[in-house]
Amino acid sequence: MSKKRELGIYVHIPFCIKKCNYCDFLSAPATKQVQKYYVDGLTEQIKQYKNLIREYEVRTIFFGGGTPSVLEIKELERIIEQLEEFINDEQEITIEANPGTLTKEKLMFYKKSGFNRLSIGLQSANEKELKLLGRIHTYEDFLQNYIDARESGFENINIDLMSALPGQTKDTYEESLKKVLMLDPEHISAYSLIIEEGTKFYDWYYGREDLLPDEDTEREMYYFTKKYLKEKGYQRYEISNYAKQGFESRHNLSYWSGTDYLGLGLGASSLIKGTRFQMESDLETFCQGALQGKNLERDKIELTKREQMEEFMFLGLRKMEGIEEREFSSQFQVELEEIYGAVLEKLIDEGLIKKRQNRVLLTEYGIDVSNVVLSEFLLSE
Ligand code: SF4
Repeated sequence: MSKKRELGIYVHIPFCIKKCNYCDFLSAPATKQVQKYYVDGLTEQIKQYKNLIREYEVRTIFFGGGTPSVLEIKELERIIEQLEEFINDEQEITIEANPGTLTKEKLMFYKKSGFNRLSIGLQSANEKELKLLGRIHTYEDFLQNYIDARESGFENINIDLMSALPGQTKDTYEESLKKVLMLDPEHISAYSLIIEEGTKFYDWYYGREDLLPDEDTEREMYYFTKKYLKEKGYQRYEISNYAKQGFESRHNLSYWSGTDYLGLGLGASSLIKGTRFQMESDLETFCQGALQGKNLERDKIELTKREQMEEFMFLGLRKMEGIEEREFSSQFQVELEEIYGAVLEKLIDEGLIKKRQNRVLLTEYGIDVSNVVLSEFLLSE
């Protein structure tokens, strides 16, 4: 019997208690009634995709948002029921949660339902910074959730942190990181703030670099993160992600490795058999359409071989272990050298890329300027 292809499933919960000031994700506050209506639509959509999912071996499931933890237990239960036949003990099953929406009861329910990884959005351990970000919680709220999560049996917890925030100093950032590490989480995602259009931060700070940490301070925060997490035994396995050994996010690693993934729910993205698409992103159209069994796939693009090669490089090089030359040739029936020989030679000369045992990976310096390096892998038509 031939082996099934692997699949990651992403389930989008587009609700939050309140929109954070920097957030441009597809998420908004909603009444319990709207949430229920959405779950009606989402569960119908899952039913429609069951045959497709059955063609695969599901390796990871990720409930993201938004804030999946705003959902009431009975709503989440309805979604899980639909996915039940695809859940097994071998998988990594993650739920994202934000302090201010979590309770011990919910955490115990997650654990009982098969979630074995919890990703908590903290962003900062500094009260002033949390307020400015528009977060609904304090550090104390987070701490209580963290303790409850451990007591509920979660042994794999990620904490999200942000740097380069307005008014943040190297000291306040370091304090946040140190406070969080005292809790000994298995995984840390450490991102720099990006001011996105359409957010309150964009109105307040766009073009006002004087109100943001300067480049040197930002770099210092970045270098501190790298150094401190290494000292504490976390391995950086992707540009912004650090984990204790064996606790790398398998779901995210599968994105970066080009595994197929199916995004269910509002605006969720998928990559299935070389075709990329997004689900309808208007809430009413989504819910109505899903309940009527309509196809809600939008912006369908069949990736050309050129685009697939570019993605292979962009995504693969985000991982610290880089890409394997053999994998490239077996996937595309052409040698890596033939396509990217000149680019690789140039980047190696510049000290941005290195080769190690049949693999190509970014150097320390290359990671620091990864955006520039990765753009070199765009191929002309
Ligand atoms: S909790 Fe997360 S998804 Fe929700 S508004 Fe804040 S940043 Fe956005």
